[in-house]
Amino acid sequence: MIGLLRRWIVPSACLICAGDAEPGTVCAGCRASLPWNPIACPVCALPLRSEIAHVCARCAAEPPAFDSTLAAFRYEAPIRQAIAGLKYRAQFRQSRWLGAELAQLAARRLSPLPELLIPVPLHASRLRSRGYNQALELARGIARQLAIDLDWRCATRLRATADQIGQDAKARRKEVRGAFAVGPTVAGRHVALVDDVMTTGSTVDDLARAARAAGALRIEVWVAARVP
Ligand SMILES: [Zn+2]
Ligand SMILES: [Zn+2]
Repeated sequence: MIGLLRRWIVPSACLICAGDAEPGTVCAGCRASLPWNPIACPVCALPLRSEIAHVCARCAAEPPAFDSTLAAFRYEAPIRQAIAGLKYRAQFRQSRWLGAELAQLAARRLSPLPELLIPVPLHASRLRSRGYNQALELARGIARQLAIDLDWRCATRLRATADQIGQDAKARRKEVRGAFAVGPTVAGRHVALVDDVMTTGSTVDDLARAARAAGALRIEVWVAARVP
């Protein structure tokens, strides 16, 4: 409770433990124990237990519509709580911090940056009830930091889907298929679809399929966290 109060009053409090930290970030102690995701499938960012990254069995058997995924963290504590704060309690300090971490990882790669960021859209009814799209909040910070264009209007969610955490992969795939429409701004471009969490990847796969149909050339997925 005191930690929560301190975090609210003191802008320089660590976003996780409320100890001393640079404003809007986490302290050195918390940072050292974050669940980073360094060894993962290059296509879907599934965390791997091996020494080196390789394409996972699922992507090898059934390649998704996107080309690659960058996930800063595994979806585990304390990242899970940080994302819950963003998603359900409008804690935009969390999205700024998570976005900054993702932007740093993206900037450190050798591959060229995308030309356009597209946050995974919420259905209009979900957007109305939540009041904001957490994926857009995350993408805003990344776009600013990396000077990449952000387009939150070119993709729309046609159908309301249930919150997917807890559903099995088959149910998710069935539910999301054909749930998105993507406009012509993506034609001929290298884009990154941005979301807070990737669970099985069926949502972004469906959005990527729509982006591909609209002419996107290269499609990356950038997420703060990947469910192991
Ligand atoms: Zn801390
Ligand atoms: Zn994979």
